[in-house]
Amino acid sequence: MLKPISFVRGFRVPKQKDIDEALGNDASFSNEFKMSFNSLPHPTSDLDWLANYREKGQTYTQFLRQCPFFDDNHSLQKYIYLTLLDNDDRLLLLNIDRLIDYTKRFFQMEIKLLPLFTNINWNNTKHTWMCTMKGRNDSTKEITLRTRYDSTSGHSQICVDNVLNLLKRSLPSDARCLVAITLHDLYSAESDLFIAGLCHGNSSVGAFSFFRYDPRLKFSEEFWYDWKIKKTKSKLMSTIILMRSCRLLTHEIGHLLGIDHCIYYECLMNGSGHLEEDFAQPLFLCPIDLRKLSQLAGFDIIERYEQLLDFCTENRFIDEINILKKRLDILKNEKQTVQTKKNKDFDHETTQKSKRLKKK
Ligand SMILES: [Zn+2]
Ligand SMILES: [Zn+2]
Repeated sequence: MLKPISFVRGFRVPKQKDIDEALGNDASFSNEFKMSFNSLPHPTSDLDWLANYREKGQTYTQFLRQCPFFDDNHSLQKYIYLTLLDNDDRLLLLNIDRLIDYTKRFFQMEIKLLPLFTNINWNNTKHTWMCTMKGRNDSTKEITLRTRYDSTSGHSQICVDNVLNLLKRSLPSDARCLVAITLHDLYSAESDLFIAGLCHGNSSVGAFSFFRYDPRLKFSEEFWYDWKIKKTKSKLMSTIILMRSCRLLTHEIGHLLGIDHCIYYECLMNGSGHLEEDFAQPLFLCPIDLRKLSQLAGFDIIERYEQLLDFCTENRFIDEINILKKRLDILKNEKQTVQTKKNKDFDHETTQKSKRLKKK
């Protein structure tokens, strides 16, 4: 029989009261809307995030206190900047335009693409990746990216910390964050198998690799350089890569905007300890994190869901289409009810007024 997996010792599973408090008593979401979200899943593997990390959660009120972008000093920082650390031909696999489009609909903020790294090429003498980097005043510089290399397989990984340091120097003054995207494999510590990415929240920068998100990739759990890409091409491949990239990028930008890991619902902002757990997580925010983002970006929740639904329909994200339709139905019905009630109240008031007038 399978051994049941517990939450890490000391983790307090939130009760309904905690969830209500985290959302805030003045939130306008109905019970029906809240019930369209799944509760926090129990760990199913020893490697799952909450089987290892004692997360405390972040309430809506804590977010308002912690997020720097509500402060007047940060009022000019409006944009999410993305930059590509890869050559165009390799990035075709990622469908960058769609990824940017999704990110824009998701955050309802303007996304700017910053051309920072060009001519990324392999130096066969030094066994490192090199690139040309654009400086602040349009100057360019040749950069050697810290790389580790395995001569037998010919495989390499770029050091993410090195990339983050380069990003910090290039952060535009109107940026909420600057995120590098690559299909090169990344590592941080020598002991890492790989790292999907890393954020330096205090510096508003992050770098993420979608290399391990390719469904054709088979890799060893032991040696970083031991991987193979199957030649088969499935029709669903680009949909799977796009969906996985959308999930990773929005989760990480969520962090850079000040949203911590979620422990209240099954949510995009749940931590993930391994790729399988990551791939099983939803694409969307729970009511608590949705409230945080809507407060920061100031959007209409129905309009945003409609834009996300259009995207999911165009890109055939089948499960997501159904989820969004269900939530939109709930929200639109409620809006309709409120509107009808308002009209009725108005009619009633007008009748009362005209009665009073007649009496005169
Ligand atoms: Zn995270
Ligand atoms: Zn959440």
